[in-house]
Amino acid sequence: MSKISNLSFVIPVYNEKDNIIDLHKDLLALVSYYDQQLSDFKYEIIYINDGSTDGSLEILQNLVGNEVKLVNFTNNRGKSYALQKGFSLAQYETVIMMDSDGQDIPNELKKLIAEKENDFDLVSGYKKKRKDSIIKVITSRMSNAFMSLLFKTDIKDFNSGLKVLDRSFAQTLILPEGFHRFIAFFALNAGLTYKEVAVEHRPRIHGKSKYSYFKIFPSSLDMLLLFFTIKRYDLLAIALLFVNSVLAFLALILSRLANFGVLNIYLGFMVLLNAVISAALFKKIREYKNFAKSVI
Ligand code: UDP
Ligand code: MG
Repeated sequence: MSKISNLSFVIPVYNEKDNIIDLHKDLLALVSYYDQQLSDFKYEIIYINDGSTDGSLEILQNLVGNEVKLVNFTNNRGKSYALQKGFSLAQYETVIMMDSDGQDIPNELKKLIAEKENDFDLVSGYKKKRKDSIIKVITSRMSNAFMSLLFKTDIKDFNSGLKVLDRSFAQTLILPEGFHRFIAFFALNAGLTYKEVAVEHRPRIHGKSKYSYFKIFPSSLDMLLLFFTIKRYDLLAIALLFVNSVLAFLALILSRLANFGVLNIYLGFMVLLNAVISAALFKKIREYKNFAKSVI
């Protein structure tokens, strides 16, 4: 059992002006707890302002000091990229990633840190009672069940934003948008040891969730494509799309020859849609392949 003596917190912030101060206070209380226990304890808090437009930046700028660092994105680049940037800057061996929305409770990190000291490579918070909207809870349960089935793991909460991980692993992660949800899976895939710890979760009191139902579709697609890539079926995925496009195109010609009227418009639309989706998927698969090179 090795005591953790230094911590790099990596915290993305997007329009969280009413949550930052309380979070920061709770974090300082947590680090002073470790400071009292360990003579050589060191920490840093890296906030990544992800293009906030609500005044979060000004609040964060006031917190900057020796241990508190700030990365500022002038545009919103998404949580995945914000985390990746934060990981790249971490100077200590143990990294903690957490949200700044007040839903993750800093004091709960003591449980995770204790497990990390038991030499697990990745420790992740598992929200037993999730304090989110019912739709979000249902979609998240579905996606967790699907992921577990797909990848044959017993992970209960893939998407947990509260994790303690080694910097050496965090810095290998290339995270296209949405991929922060798969960090647990990447760890398992890389043969790392993994532990889920039940944590309390608070409802969001201030600000709005950036999760939207529009993200369900791309996120499901991400899962499938990731699966194809990891299983080295990515060529199969492209081939399927290609066959699909060809079939739709043939159907279009056929219906034109037979003069199916309105069906032409429908099929024309389908061909176009197929082409656009194929191009988008192709781009994604290339991103995944780059990622796969670094982790698989
Ligand atoms: N976040 C971010 N960039 C974004 C969206 C979210 O940095 O484009 C941050 C946000 O400020 C919060 C965390 O990511 O700290 C999780 O966001 P949110 O609470 O909206 O997601 P949810 O918990 O509802 O999935
Ligand atoms: Mg949240």
